[in-house]
Amino acid sequence: IASDEHKFVQFKLVLLGESAVGKSSIVQRFVKDSFNDFKESTIGAAFLTQTIDLDSDTTVKFEIWDTAGQERYRSLASIYYRNAQSALVVYDITQKASLDKAKYWIKELQKQASNNIVIALVGNKTDLEEERQIPTEEAQAFANEAGLLFFEVSAKSGKGIKECFREIALKMPIEE
Ligand code: GDP
Repeated sequence: IASDEHKFVQFKLVLLGESAVGKSSIVQRFVKDSFNDFKESTIGAAFLTQTIDLDSDTTVKFEIWDTAGQERYRSLASIYYRNAQSALVVYDITQKASLDKAKYWIKELQKQASNNIVIALVGNKTDLEEERQIPTEEAQAFANEAGLLFFEVSAKSGKGIKECFREIALKMPIEE
């Protein structure tokens, strides 16, 4: 007998990465489809939700934790990624050092987060192509080796943002 029940699932997603790489801008683009050029940094943690339809009978709700101020409150970060089913580790394609910081957070997650957490490495600010310092292939190769999803996006133009969250949602365990 075919089921006509609509599946509704909820997942916790955390954002990690160096300050100013665009974590809250990515969330703002995904949740509100908007962007601020001169936004003030979030202090503390921001919590937002967004719901997407994966297909006609599956709805996914993301509970998004934007862990701002990690530089100062590094020891608190584990509180955010504990119980998270997914993590976006963000770097800025125009800032070489931000990829090193992303690698640090990935190590942390692999040590301390749930074993089956889905981690995506996300290179932001692709609208600044002329200032790029990190080749796509370099980050892609690292992601492949570490078993991560990989995306390049622009919170400013919106390019790649929806696809990124959708791909993560598709990796989530959805019971029949
Ligand atoms: P966070 O500290 O990681 O949350 O970073 P923010 O979201 O606060 O962004 C830091 C700065 O980068 C802000 O001035 C944003 O306007 C800018 N920014 C964020 N995303 C992009 C992007 O995709 N392209 C460009 N050009 N600037 C961005």
